[in-house]
Amino acid sequence: MEKFLLKNIENPDSADINEYVKAGGYKNLSKVLESGPKEVVEEVKKSGLRGRGGAGFPTAMKWSFAMADPKFPKYLMCNADEGEPGTFKDRPILEKNPHLLIEGMVISGYALGSEYGYIYLRGEYPEANDILNAAIRQAYEKNYLGDNINGKGVRFHLSVHQGAGAYICGEETALIESIEGKKGQPRNKPPFPVNVGAWSMPTIVNNVETLSNLPYIIEIGGEAYSRIGSSECPGPKLFSVSGHVERPGVYELPMGISLKDIIYNHAGGIKDNAKLKAVIPGGISTPVLPPDSIDCAMDFVSMPKAGSMLGSGAVIVMDDSVCMVRVAYRALKFFEHESCGKCVPCREGTDWLRKVLERIEYGKGTEGDIELLSDIAEIMSGKTFCPLGDGAAGVVTAMIKHFRDEFEEHIKNRKCSLADSY
Ligand code: SF4
Repeated sequence: MEKFLLKNIENPDSADINEYVKAGGYKNLSKVLESGPKEVVEEVKKSGLRGRGGAGFPTAMKWSFAMADPKFPKYLMCNADEGEPGTFKDRPILEKNPHLLIEGMVISGYALGSEYGYIYLRGEYPEANDILNAAIRQAYEKNYLGDNINGKGVRFHLSVHQGAGAYICGEETALIESIEGKKGQPRNKPPFPVNVGAWSMPTIVNNVETLSNLPYIIEIGGEAYSRIGSSECPGPKLFSVSGHVERPGVYELPMGISLKDIIYNHAGGIKDNAKLKAVIPGGISTPVLPPDSIDCAMDFVSMPKAGSMLGSGAVIVMDDSVCMVRVAYRALKFFEHESCGKCVPCREGTDWLRKVLERIEYGKGTEGDIELLSDIAEIMSGKTFCPLGDGAAGVVTAMIKHFRDEFEEHIKNRKCSLADSY
C-alpha cells in the first residue's frame, strides 16, 4: 500500500515546510479553500473515517454535532497525549511529518467553522514539542495559519499545550479540563464536549492520526478512501508493534489487515524464532489474546468479535519467556498509578487488583486469590466513571481467562518459575 501518513519520513528534513510543500504538502488545503467547508464534510462522510484514538467513533458524525450547535467560538483539539503503554504510532507524525497534522487541522477547522486549534501533547514528548512549535512558526510565516490563510480571508490559529504526564488526560473531557488549567479529571457526560466543551463552547477532540488523514481524503476523494481496507472501517491505519518481534516499529497498513500478518510478515515474526505466547493487540488496556486467536482482522468491528479491541493499534507481542502474572501485575501497577481517584470503583479497585497480583507474583498468593481478582474486576466493570477503570478490570479478566494455569501455578508453587529470566 502506498504510504501517506508516513510519506517522506525517511527524508532527514521531512519536518521542514519547504520539503513538505515540495512533496505536494498544503495543496489539499488550497484545494478545499477553493471549494468550501460543506464539500470537506461531504468527503469525510463519504470516506467513512473513524477516529483513530481508540473508540473508533465516525468522524463526520462527531463533527455534525458540533456544527449543528450555533454557539461560537468552536474549538478544535488535537489529542496528542499518546500515553497508552505500547502506543507510539502518532510519534512519527508529530516528529517527522508535523505539517501533515497542521494541514489536517486547518482543513478540519475550516470545515467545522473553528478558528482556534490546540494540540494537547503528552509531556513525555519534548522533541515533538520543539518540532511542532517550529513547524507552526513556519506555517504562520507561509500564511497557512493566521487571519487570512492563502489570502482567502480564512482564519485559524494553532498552538501546542504540553501535558504534565497524566495518562487520564488522553480522555477527551480530562484533556479539556487540563487545557483549561484545571486538574485533569474526566467530566460527567452528557453534556458532551461537542456541545459543552472547552470554556463551555462546542469542542471537537480528534486524535493526531485522525486529523492527519484529512489531506489524504481530500487528495483522493472520500469514495476512493472508503475502498481502502475494511468496508466498515476504511482507510490506512498506523500500527505500533513492540515486544518480541524481529522488526518492531510503526507500520502504515490498510485497516482490517490481520493481526497475524502484521506480526509475521511486516514485523518479521517472533524474535529468534521463539514461540509466541500472547499478544495485546491495541495497547495495554485491550484484552490479551492467545496465539490461536491472532488470525483476526484489525479493525473496530472485527476485534471485539475476536475477544479484544483495536484500541490504538498498539500491538505488544510476547514470547514464551514472559510471565503473564507479571504482565498483569505491571499493567495494574500502571493503572493504579494513573487512576485519577475521582470514582471509588476505579480508585479502590485498581489498588486491590494490584495488591492481589503483587502477592501472587511474589509467591505469597493464597487459595481463593484468583476468584478474588475475578470478583473485584466484575464489581468494577461498567461502574467506573471513565474507561480507565473498565480497561484495568478487562486486562485482569482476560489474563485469567487465557492464562489461569499460570496464576494457579504461582499460588501452588509459591513462586514465579520465570522470574529468574528478568
Ligand atoms: Fe478517574 Fe479511574 Fe474514575 Fe476514570 S475510572 S474517573 S480514571 S478514578
